[in-house]
Amino acid sequence: MSRTSPADHDVLLRVNELSTWFAKDDQVIKAADEVSFSIKKGEIVGLVGESGSGKTVTARSIARLISPPGKIVGGQVFLGETSLLDLDEDEMNAVRGDRIGMLFQEPRVMLDPTCRVGNQVGEPLRIHRATSKRDAWSTAVGLLRDVEIPDPEERARSYAIDISGGMAQRVMIATALAAEPDLLIADEPTTALDVTVQAQILQLLQQQCRERGMAMLLITHDLGVVAAIADRVLVMYAGQLVAEGTTEEILRGPLHPYTCALVACASLATADGALVTIRPSSEDLGEGCRFYDRCDLHGQAGISDRCRDEMPSLVESRAGRRTRCHAIELGLGEAVGV
Ligand code: SF4
Repeated sequence: MSRTSPADHDVLLRVNELSTWFAKDDQVIKAADEVSFSIKKGEIVGLVGESGSGKTVTARSIARLISPPGKIVGGQVFLGETSLLDLDEDEMNAVRGDRIGMLFQEPRVMLDPTCRVGNQVGEPLRIHRATSKRDAWSTAVGLLRDVEIPDPEERARSYAIDISGGMAQRVMIATALAAEPDLLIADEPTTALDVTVQAQILQLLQQQCRERGMAMLLITHDLGVVAAIADRVLVMYAGQLVAEGTTEEILRGPLHPYTCALVACASLATADGALVTIRPSSEDLGEGCRFYDRCDLHGQAGISDRCRDEMPSLVESRAGRRTRCHAIELGLGEAVGV
């Protein structure tokens, strides 16, 4: 397999037909099924879907953080010109925390309670840049200031156990930024935080991406989060990408019936606080569209047989806008009000 990607100087990350499967009893679950997309330098891309849709598996596959019984069974991932799936474990360790920063949902779980905050934030510099302990500490204090932690010199001497959840996530952001990564993978980074703190953290992430020219893959179940800061949105359902577009296109003019449902639910949640959950099933996937059982559109469009029997392809309707739906591909969506 080639270790270099075709030259496209704007593209930072290119994912080609990435497939990650999990063996469970005598079943195989295709958690990520031939997923393809790219992210440009400095771009913020939201990867959206309900629990079990494959978004976290996709993100962890990019960072090569899949453990048995999961296995990456096919595809390619290029970061710049580097083919990540061809690296050995030592080479991949050098990429993680250096060119790729990671941010997770539970910052307290990721922080070492016995380690001073300043040492934790400076650790990537000592590991990846062989920076002295004194210089790493001084850079860490600057990073804590960048992420708007008050009194950063004093806070650097604290232990993780002594700080709030919102501040812990700021510390994790500072840690992820330490080695100046090209790409930040943020998996539900605000889900565990209070609503007011969520907005501050999202604003901080966006600001840091813009200032540093850093790209971000933002994994979330919450369309409100991508609406706040993402440039583009990818929608996953049952292991497949089903829609892609600019944030404006996806939120204001959704085409795929699942995206329409997500947007409607997000509107509902905003209007009256109702929480509506759509849970895709990974089981009993037939040959046809995976959204078939939940879709009203195929009946209205008169294409039920085709939808039941034939998997739709992810078709580009214009540059950067892709949808996996027979009705949209056949131009029948408009006729039935999509
Ligand atoms: S392909 Fe058919 S079943 Fe699937 S979302 Fe489109 S209309 Fe619905």
